[in-house]
Amino acid sequence: MEQSKESPLVNISASEPQQSYEGLWPTNVKRENGVISIGGVLTTDIVRTYGTPVYVIDEEDMRMRARRWKNAMDDAFSSLAGADVFYAGKAFLSVGVAKWMREEGLGIDTCSLAELVTATKAGYTGEMLGLHGNNKSIEEITYALELGVKHFVIDSLAELDLVARIAQENNMIANVMLRVTTGVHAGGHEYISTAHEDQKFGLSVTTGVARLAIERVLDASSLRLVGLHSHIGSQILNINAFKEAADVVMGLRSQVLHDLNYDIREIDFGGGYAIRYTDIDEVPPTPEEYAHELAKIVRESICQTGASAPHVSIEPGRSIAGPSCVTLYSVGTIKDVAIADEKHRRYVSIDGGMSDNIRPALYGSNYTALRCNRASSEEKEVTRIVGKHCESGDIVVHDLALDKDVQAGDILAVPATGAYGRSMASNYNMLPRPGVIAAKDGQVRWLVRCENVNDLLNLDVDA
Ligand SMILES: *Cc1c(COP(=O)(O)O)cnc(C)c1O
Repeated sequence: MEQSKESPLVNISASEPQQSYEGLWPTNVKRENGVISIGGVLTTDIVRTYGTPVYVIDEEDMRMRARRWKNAMDDAFSSLAGADVFYAGKAFLSVGVAKWMREEGLGIDTCSLAELVTATKAGYTGEMLGLHGNNKSIEEITYALELGVKHFVIDSLAELDLVARIAQENNMIANVMLRVTTGVHAGGHEYISTAHEDQKFGLSVTTGVARLAIERVLDASSLRLVGLHSHIGSQILNINAFKEAADVVMGLRSQVLHDLNYDIREIDFGGGYAIRYTDIDEVPPTPEEYAHELAKIVRESICQTGASAPHVSIEPGRSIAGPSCVTLYSVGTIKDVAIADEKHRRYVSIDGGMSDNIRPALYGSNYTALRCNRASSEEKEVTRIVGKHCESGDIVVHDLALDKDVQAGDILAVPATGAYGRSMASNYNMLPRPGVIAAKDGQVRWLVRCENVNDLLNLDVDA
């Protein structure tokens, strides 16, 4: 984490809620009489009952985003061999959220035992679950086999052998997808395309390891090769990155048909679809645009090679969970710090920070915020929102034009915190992790209750 680098004073305020899909706020967020509400519930009422910090998910909004992916993929691939959408559970998973995904017709992409168990508690059977990970444990593999997961996404030759062995010992056949690396890496605005693969995930197409793995699966009596998988990164805005990777995967598939006379039935294009965190972020392509482009690539490839149409799946996480959630914080201490030329920056401390949102510290991500208990004022002040942790990099919002009359006790709402917020939360400084609330039609309820000091001490055998 870069520290104390002099950054210019930037004055950007967050846009007010607009009830639009592309906006920064969930679609059922409004400001009325000065107070922001979520799913028809005033944030002031939520905070009075549930305290801060707290994550609040607009249930209707999250379901709508899931449904929109599902419908877009169904429409784009209806004239091919169909499509599935697997919600990437690592973005945020609870039994309640898994139930919403099941009701909206999505599968779940898991990568640990607890994620698998959470999905089953929401009523999922194996058919709509996938198991990921670059170091699956014997316990995870065994449990996934018992569940009959739709597929294991295999990440290495060693893992291929391990899954084959465990399946054989249990007299079972494991359906596998092979995660291949295409040389395309993407994230944010940029993507790079290289021939080498210096990263921990996947089986390289260019070096021939992917091809070797395909042959090895075909030789293993306890494995069935159902598909190829490619996930190129996260927060990707550039649709060309997906195109380039998809071309490589489709090329490998037709080579295998040609050389080995084996028709690989499925292709999974992974996740990574970008969302907006601040008003200066570009508006990303819609699910319909992504789905249309993917279908176009698949159609072109099968026309050129004469291969059959594959069944296609994708695994969006962030683009379903991220925009549906806001974090509510209470303002504590406020401090004006001189920086240069008689200018100052206002530091507003809130009651959470890097323990409930690690993304600014981990990735340098930027967020924004609005005061939600009172109307926003005309006059703004150059502000930085910081957490309460013992780290100077504990920043929630780097640069913000915030109401000049902000005071202790005000409530701030930070949008787009639904993905990789609670799921990456920690107990740093022994802060209890905030709970997650679902708001819908004027009602709120816990999805995951907040931790308290006893929860933390329960694990301490000397307490
Ligand atoms: C992280 C991940 C996803 C989801 O990524 P998002 O950026 O949240 O859409 C999907 N598939 C795999 C294999 C992943 O590692």
